[in-house]
Amino acid sequence: MTRFSGVLPSLVILVGAFACAPAPKATETPWILAESAREYVTDPALERRMFQALDAAATAGTDPSISGYHVRAATVVEHEGADRAIVGGNTEWAGYPEAIHGETSLMNHVINLVGPEAARKDVGFLAFYTDGTCGGGGSCGDCRDYLMTTTRWRDLLMVCGSGADHTVHVSRFAKWVVPESDFPEVTPEATGLDRAQLDALVEAALEARTGGVLLFTAAEEHLGVAALSTEGEIYRAAGADDAAFHYRYPLGAVLQQAAAYRDYFIEAVVVATAPGHIPRISYRDRQYGYESSSFNAKRGHPPIKLIVLEQRPGEATMRYRMTTFEDALPGAFSTASFMPEAVDKFLEERAKR
Ligand SMILES: [Zn+2]
Repeated sequence: MTRFSGVLPSLVILVGAFACAPAPKATETPWILAESAREYVTDPALERRMFQALDAAATAGTDPSISGYHVRAATVVEHEGADRAIVGGNTEWAGYPEAIHGETSLMNHVINLVGPEAARKDVGFLAFYTDGTCGGGGSCGDCRDYLMTTTRWRDLLMVCGSGADHTVHVSRFAKWVVPESDFPEVTPEATGLDRAQLDALVEAALEARTGGVLLFTAAEEHLGVAALSTEGEIYRAAGADDAAFHYRYPLGAVLQQAAAYRDYFIEAVVVATAPGHIPRISYRDRQYGYESSSFNAKRGHPPIKLIVLEQRPGEATMRYRMTTFEDALPGAFSTASFMPEAVDKFLEERAKR
């Protein structure tokens, strides 16, 4: 069984029966707010609620049967006139390495108790209890997508309490968010790609976007993607939805296709959406890209170029914005972070070159 050796910041959940835990008694050793957290926590009532949440998070049930890493999360909201601590935690299932994450578990339980509007209005922080020390890493891409949908994420605080030294660290969730409009605009030449290769990628991405499956997806959210490998091959994919809402993400799909040809090192991906819009790159897809780019890093290749296309109204020519998955997903983690030797061995055995 695979074991992640390091600290997994955000693997996942919990059993419904424990979703609403009564606030436990305060721990014998009191929590200590780190000096760096004071800029975020000036209200003694907020500090008290964070500590209450950490006490509750310490009790959260988890089932990390693959990673062995417990994500114990909680928050405190007012419900029926009293502060209520609500917990969430990760659960993983073997066979396919899948999981429900602590963040999504927790917010789901909050919504179960107070409803989506009150959850969005009232959840000001998510607190995580760790037996070790707080590493400061961000949530996975999928959890970022979910928290951006279910919370007032611009104001959301992320709290980590260390069971080892009882210090409490606080940061803003928003520092892990990079809007696509912030991706720098570049000229075709500045992409560093051969013009013929860039044109071929653009054509492939636009053509891919004419396909896919979008029975539930808004047209402007439907993306076509093309990837160029270091072998010079071009792959393409489009988003696909279904009735179970198990969305097939286009960047994940194109990288999976390349991997099926043992073509693990990607030079660039180009993403297209409807004219008049900047493609919205989900944080889940950024996670897939980040993981793939970590393979590049292992072999000394540059990070994958993430290029998004924008066709503005009244303009015939395409505009280009370019960044990397490393910049588009700050505070990210990948398998290469936790199991560097395993990734080396995997690439040695599987990669074409
Ligand atoms: Zn997550």
